[in-house]
Amino acid sequence: MKFYFPDSQDQISPTFNFLTEEHSPYRVRQRDDKYAHEVLKPQPYDGLLVSKAIVDGSVKGAGKYSMPQRERLYRLGVSKYFRLSENVVTLGDCGAFNYVDEELPPYTTAEVLDFYERCGFHSGISIDHVIFGYDPTVSDELVNPAWKKRRQISLRYAGEFYDRVQERGNKIEPVGAAQGWSPASYADSVKCLQEFGYKRIALGGMVPLRTQDILACLEEISQIRLSDTELHLLGITRVTSMEEFATYGVTSFDSTSPFRQAFMDDRNNYHTETGAYTAIRVPQVDGNPALKRRILAGEISQAKAKSAERECMKRLRAYDEGLESLDRVIEILGEYEQLVEPGKKKSKIAAYRVTLEAKPWKSCKCTICAAHGVEIVIFRGSERNKRRGFHNLSVFDTKMHRIKNPLGQEY
Ligand SMILES: [Zn+2]
Repeated sequence: MKFYFPDSQDQISPTFNFLTEEHSPYRVRQRDDKYAHEVLKPQPYDGLLVSKAIVDGSVKGAGKYSMPQRERLYRLGVSKYFRLSENVVTLGDCGAFNYVDEELPPYTTAEVLDFYERCGFHSGISIDHVIFGYDPTVSDELVNPAWKKRRQISLRYAGEFYDRVQERGNKIEPVGAAQGWSPASYADSVKCLQEFGYKRIALGGMVPLRTQDILACLEEISQIRLSDTELHLLGITRVTSMEEFATYGVTSFDSTSPFRQAFMDDRNNYHTETGAYTAIRVPQVDGNPALKRRILAGEISQAKAKSAERECMKRLRAYDEGLESLDRVIEILGEYEQLVEPGKKKSKIAAYRVTLEAKPWKSCKCTICAAHGVEIVIFRGSERNKRRGFHNLSVFDTKMHRIKNPLGQEY
C-alpha cells in the first residue's frame, strides 16, 4: 500500500529560531527550506502527488507556486525539484476540486499531458470532474443530469488521455479517473476505463463518503475488476480500513489530512499512535488581527497582552524541563485565553491540561519532537504548526506500517 502526500509547497526553515521567533538573515527559501521527506527519518511517504492547479493556478486564483518556482519545477523536473530520493514515486493530477464549480474542466488533454511530461512524473491521472453527491440506488436514467454529465465528461477525457499517452510514446503511466454517485455507477466507470486499456484507476469524489459506502463501491467494483487492475483512492485516509480496502485491489491512496489537522482541526492537532491531543494556542500578539484591533480600540493594554504571551511561552518551556508546575502553566494559559478570546464559550483549557499531563512529545520518536520538544505542541506560527504536521505524517507512517505487517503485505 503506497501513501502519496499531496504537495502544497509546505516546507519548514531548519534555521528558524524558536526563542527569538526569527529566521536566519541568510536564509534562501528554495535552497534552505526543507520538505517533510527531507527532515523526517524514515521519510513519511512513498510518493508525492502534485496538482496542476496548485502549480499553475486555476479559476479560483493563483497557485501555490511563484513564477520562479514554477519555472524551476519545469526546468528540473519533479524529482530534482523536490530533492526526492529514488524510491519516492510521483503522481500528477489536475486538482479537480479547484474547478469543481465550473461546468467543464478548464484544461485540454494535451495541456495536462504537457504538464505531466515536462515535470517528468512517473504516473499521471486523466482529467476528471467531481460529482458532489452520493445516492446508492438512483439509476442512470433518473439521476441528476449534472451528475450523469460529469461522469460522461470524466470518461470521455479518460479515453482521450489513454490514447494520447500511447501516441506520445508512453512517457508516463496513465491512471484513469473514475467518478460516480453509487456503487453501480463507479463500477461502470471502472469497467469502461479497463476497456480503454487502463491498468491503474483512481477513484475520485469519495472524500465525503462514509467508510461503509466506500466499501460498498469497492465491493461492486470487485465484480468487474480485472485481477491486474490497481486502484487508487483520491483523498482518503481511513487507516483502520486500509487493510480491508487492500483486499479489493486498492494499492495506493493520498491525503493531506494528517498534515492539515495539525493546524486546521479544532482539537485533534498532535497525533499519536493511539489518539490525538489538542495543541496549545499561544498566538502572537503582533500576528493576531482580532487582538490587535482590541488593543487599538483601547480595550486591553498591549503591554499586558505581550507580557501574558511571554509568560505562557516561558512557563511552557520551564514545564518541559521539569522546572514549573502544571497548575501554574494552566493558570497563565487561562489568563491569556481570556485576553485573546474574552467570553469564549468553549475554553480549551481542559484539553490543554490533558496534553500537558501526557507530555506526548517526550515519548515521540520522530526527529522533529526529538529536536524541539514542547515547541511542537504549541499552536503558534507556521514554523511550529507545519512541524507538528510533519510529526503527524511520521505518526501516520508508523500506523500504516503497523496495520500492514499483520497481513504480511509488502510496503
Ligand atoms: Zn514527533
